[in-house]
Amino acid sequence: MRDSFGREISYLRISVTDLCNLRCQYCMPAEGVEKKCHHQILPLEQVVEIARAAVALGIRKIRLTGGEPLVRRGIVTLVEQLAALEGLEELAMTTNGVLLPQLGPALRRAGLNRVNLSLDTLRAERYRAITRIGRLEDALAGLDAALRLGFSPVKLNAVLIGGFNDDEIGDLVALTERLPVEMRFIELMPMGTGDFGPGAYVPCDRVLQAVPALVPAEDDSGGTARRYRLPGAPGAVGLISPLSRHFCASCNRLRLTADGYLKPCLHSAQEQSVAELHGAALTEALRRAILEKPGCHDRLAWDSPTKTERTMNEIGG
Ligand code: SAM
Ligand code: SF4
Repeated sequence: MRDSFGREISYLRISVTDLCNLRCQYCMPAEGVEKKCHHQILPLEQVVEIARAAVALGIRKIRLTGGEPLVRRGIVTLVEQLAALEGLEELAMTTNGVLLPQLGPALRRAGLNRVNLSLDTLRAERYRAITRIGRLEDALAGLDAALRLGFSPVKLNAVLIGGFNDDEIGDLVALTERLPVEMRFIELMPMGTGDFGPGAYVPCDRVLQAVPALVPAEDDSGGTARRYRLPGAPGAVGLISPLSRHFCASCNRLRLTADGYLKPCLHSAQEQSVAELHGAALTEALRRAILEKPGCHDRLAWDSPTKTERTMNEIGG
């Protein structure tokens, strides 16, 4: 279905939990978040019902995210039920990957095709510092499992943080020479970023300056990420620049939070609960959310932070 600006809204991102087994400094408070009561979190049956209604309106791709989607009990069954939805063409997940060696085989069998894994650094002490409690070896085991199990594509997400990992751009890009992955750099967004301030923001063009050998990828589809390649490399590089070059004009997304709110725009406070809606009322709410999707969010910059009243772990990125 098209929104009022003519954009075809075909992509639903579903946050299945706001909880996580890591505490990334730019995403979560150090103490984590309080576990919500059962009735505050959308039951998985309702997630499936919303997804079914969304697919009937033209959603073709669903991404499960969080918090950490792999800590939500019942995630494999959810994947199985979503994969069976007629009309859905792609089912993807964004995960920190730590539980992928355990859950990956069942998720693959259940019908999950593609995964994005968060990997901000290749240095163990830095991984521990940025995630506060994580171990790099667990994240790398998740990457290994993703490749072994044949998820395709496998994309890696690194949030670019000045003074933290901007000296690792070359090493992260070099992964694409060894592995068939898309290494994506994401600009740090000003939303609940704890200790990080404006000085930590690094525009994505810094990647092109750090690795001049990168050339535009022939298969750049003009989507959210600008794609590049090292000549002859099996992998690719993606630049996601929500601050320096926003992509609102081609935004095709709708979001569902773990507590059951539809969010037409990541950076707007606009949202509507669909937790209690079924049948025609649910379809009507989805339709309205699509029609009321703003043309663009307010200017996003470190002196003009996001207007959403939620943190990233609640929305899912
Ligand atoms: N737990 C999963 C993970 O880490 O991949 C999924 C949820 S996480 C909120 C989704 C994505 O949002 C991750 O790639 C993470 O790096 C990114 N993210 C979180 N906070 C961010 C921020 N302030 N700016 C830019 N990206 C952010
Ligand atoms: Fe957890 Fe992902 Fe947020 Fe890190 S970015 S705290 S892994 S939800």
